[in-house]
Amino acid sequence: MDACVFCKISAGEIPAKVVHRDEVVVAIEDLNPQAPTHLLVMPAKHYGTIVDVSRAGDGLLGLIMEVAANLGRARGGAGGFRVVVNTGADGGQTVNHAHVHVLAGRPMSWPPG
Ligand code: AMP
Ligand code: ZN
Repeated sequence: MDACVFCKISAGEIPAKVVHRDEVVVAIEDLNPQAPTHLLVMPAKHYGTIVDVSRAGDGLLGLIMEVAANLGRARGGAGGFRVVVNTGADGGQTVNHAHVHVLAGRPMSWPPG
């Protein structure tokens, strides 16, 4: 996936504010934050959507969600946080490398747009 921006970030080929990195999961600050805290948690390797991550069936989905929950708890504190996974065109996914948004630091409204 030569052209994939998140693959390039994962490989350190383009800059990002990395807040977590282990062998299989990378988390960065979103370039266009929608809340005081807006992080993106992603597999280090390329998967198109969260469905592809799930189908891999190797525990990776759980590891990604564990990192997302830990970052949300750390950043959101008692106020809480929101986890969002836009998937496919109708889901509003714009970067086709699976990622989980973690938003915190302000009250969130519902329903989403
Ligand atoms: P989605 O619409 O769910 O696919 O979310 C893609 C997110 O990636 C958006 O919130 C963008 O602001 C963010 N984004 C795109 N390019 C970069 C980048 N180079 N570094 C950090 N975040 C990015
Ligand atoms: Zn990728």
